[in-house]
Amino acid sequence: MIKLKKINKSYHTEAISLHALKDIDLEIESGEYVSIMGASGSGKSTLLNLMGILDSYDSGEYRLNGTLIRNLTETQAAKYRNELIGFVFQSFNLINFKNALENVALPLYYKNVSRKKRNIIAMEHLDRMGLKNWAHHLPGELSGGQKQRVAIARAMISNPKVILADEPTGALDSQTTVEVMDVLSDLNRQGITTIIVTHEQSVADVTNRIIRLKDGEIESEIRKDGAHRFYTLNS
Ligand code: ADP
Ligand code: MG
Repeated sequence: MIKLKKINKSYHTEAISLHALKDIDLEIESGEYVSIMGASGSGKSTLLNLMGILDSYDSGEYRLNGTLIRNLTETQAAKYRNELIGFVFQSFNLINFKNALENVALPLYYKNVSRKKRNIIAMEHLDRMGLKNWAHHLPGELSGGQKQRVAIARAMISNPKVILADEPTGALDSQTTVEVMDVLSDLNRQGITTIIVTHEQSVADVTNRIIRLKDGEIESEIRKDGAHRFYTLNS
């Protein structure tokens, strides 16, 4: 599903260049349940954004579902994103003046689905998240866990093959963290490739494969099936 070959990415600012990803080789099969760990600044978000075609890379090859993702126009990038990827963020990224139903329905608005139809589909997704009775509430009236479930429903409404979650439990207490991880685990069991960036070992432990980044390199990989690998870092 996701194939990265010798991926490099640097950020350039006036004063310095920062080599954020260094020769990343990584393959994630369809249906895998993966977490990405590492200290703050180790390149986790950069890697996730690249996988989600939110950002580009400098060298190497990224194939998403067999398609080489390189030098895409914004229109092409948006097409692949819409077809394949659902995003979940730490800060939920809900629109505060739209209710839960409208937030979930929004991706369908951009696909020109009629209001009636998109509201029906959005309600189904909210229902699956146990939030049917909260459909007409604004994000400000929801708890953190409910907001994240609305965000997950919104991510799911386009039937993505891959869910990319950047610290989805970073703003939640431990009880709510367990609830949100249960939801993500359910989606993975339905066959969705699920990739979660996290600081929390308890979150990573729920997944089947833990990839650890250090200073832009893959430092180690631990798999639940026991196949561990440790890499020699170049820096
Ligand atoms: P993480 O998500 O693991 O905390 P990031 O991928 O956000 O790490 O960042 C990796 C490195 O790249 C950090 O040193 C960060 O400061 C730098 N970085 C990230 N985004 C930018 C940007 N837009 N411009 C310049 N430097 C950036
Ligand atoms: Mg980050």
